Amino acid sequence: MKKIIITFLSVVTMVSGVYWFLQHRAHSNSNLPNNEKLHVVTTNSILEDMVKNVGRDRIELYSIVKRGVDPHEYEPQPSDISKANDADVIFHNGLNLETGGNGWFNKLIETTHKDFNKEVFATSEDIEPRHLTTNKSEVDPHAWLDWANGIKYVRTITNVLKEKDPRNASFYQDNADEYIAKLERLHQTVQSKYLQIPEQQRLLVTSEGAFKYFGAAYHVTPAYIWEINTESQGTPEQMERILKQINKSEVKSLFVESSVSPKSMDKVASESGLKIHSKIFTDSLAKKGTTGDTYYSMMKWNIDQIYTGLK
Ligand SMILES: [Zn+2]
Repeated sequence: MKKIIITFLSVVTMVSGVYWFLQHRAHSNSNLPNNEKLHVVTTNSILEDMVKNVGRDRIELYSIVKRGVDPHEYEPQPSDISKANDADVIFHNGLNLETGGNGWFNKLIETTHKDFNKEVFATSEDIEPRHLTTNKSEVDPHAWLDWANGIKYVRTITNVLKEKDPRNASFYQDNADEYIAKLERLHQTVQSKYLQIPEQQRLLVTSEGAFKYFGAAYHVTPAYIWEINTESQGTPEQMERILKQINKSEVKSLFVESSVSPKSMDKVASESGLKIHSKIFTDSLAKKGTTGDTYYSMMKWNIDQIYTGLK
């Protein structure tokens, strides 16, 4: 009797093991079991919001880097690793954004044994990259600050969701079409907005040099204390260089990003005699329920604040 029970139990264990394996394999091959939602993870809140606009309530969504936190340098938490493990799809920006802390994102992907272009996708894959001025061999990650690029991100996201979850393909496409139309309308209104401001005043001074793509798209000259958040920040040489650049221009005010310490920009303000006009958003959205809590809202805020600040 004992033998029979033991044999029975081992057969049950084996069968459930095989079942688990098949389920798990089906999951990673993206043939989602009935009623199971696609599990999507993004590296930051801006990508999270883009994905949310396309997937709405038909996906499970999790963002690794939280609102107000710098996505360049990050230390994944146990909850991030567990969410990444369970993910059907992981979106990152790419273009050198998630490379601080000795490549935190690549390390995370190694830990979870996911594959690039199979489960892990760069939203920037269709972007023509711009390079850093201080290190021409490296690309600048801040492509989403040009709305035309943001629209390309949304198209890439939509294609991946449709491929991974074909049952909801037309739902994703309809949401994307509606969202892209809304982004496109605002993009059109900014095209020539800053040209009304004299060129000597059109210097956009921020802590990090995040506005290369924005500057090229909307006709402002970006200026910064340090070029990218992962290098040394606010050194005496950098302070001297930005103050010279400010003095040569007729710029009327300065800006500081929501996800960096304002200490260095406060110093630039006191030494140049210029005011910090407002906080603007670059690498992270604002807290939910406040201005700048979506990609659309952060861009709208930036565009309006930069316009009044430069004017
Ligand atoms: Zn940045």
